[in-house]
Amino acid sequence: AHRIGHGVRLVEDMAIRDSLTGLFLRRYLLERLSQEISRHMRLNQPLCFLMLDLDDFKSYNDRYGHPAGDIVLKSVGRTLAETFPAAGDFVCRYGGEEFAVVLPSCSKEKGLEIAETLRQKIAATGILLRRQETRMTVSIGVAVFPGDAQIKEELINKADMALYKAKMAGRNRVIAA
Ligand code: GH3
Ligand code: MG
Ligand code: MG
Repeated sequence: AHRIGHGVRLVEDMAIRDSLTGLFLRRYLLERLSQEISRHMRLNQPLCFLMLDLDDFKSYNDRYGHPAGDIVLKSVGRTLAETFPAAGDFVCRYGGEEFAVVLPSCSKEKGLEIAETLRQKIAATGILLRRQETRMTVSIGVAVFPGDAQIKEELINKADMALYKAKMAGRNRVIAA
């Protein structure tokens, strides 16, 4: 019975976690984000949403190969998981090379600070590839509920637009909505 129970848990976990990075999948994040927005509305507290995208990842793939790119995704995923170990925070692989983080009860000021620390940490992490150390940087867009948006879709949109601005401004930086 114990083994069956454990097996069921694993299957459930697989449905909400990305197999490459072990992070939550987008679908799960979107569900949780709706609940968290409602909860923060009741609590009258802000919530931060971070959208991250790897910089010039296509050229990294082109240069080192797709499996090497996967190693980078795993490395960035690990840094994210280590940075946000609290049960309340959640990190997801939002798309191919995009990640998102939800920070409960977090002001925009604090969220920007956290995003900047995260950006520096990722940029400073060496990624070993065939005995050669490579690096990756990320651009991050930050938006806050309820200051920037009152609904989930708008919050994601605002973070996405800030991320786009970070790309346009030269990458490897954090921009607020
Ligand atoms: P930018 O700084 O503007 O984001 O440039 P970019 O090259 O990172 O952006 P672009 O959207 O042009 O390329 C994203 C690349 O991410 C293209 C795709 O091959 C790669 N990618 C997406 N998912 C995966 C994956 O699971 N593994 C690997 N290795 N590459 C992936
Ligand atoms: Mg992208
Ligand atoms: Mg990219």
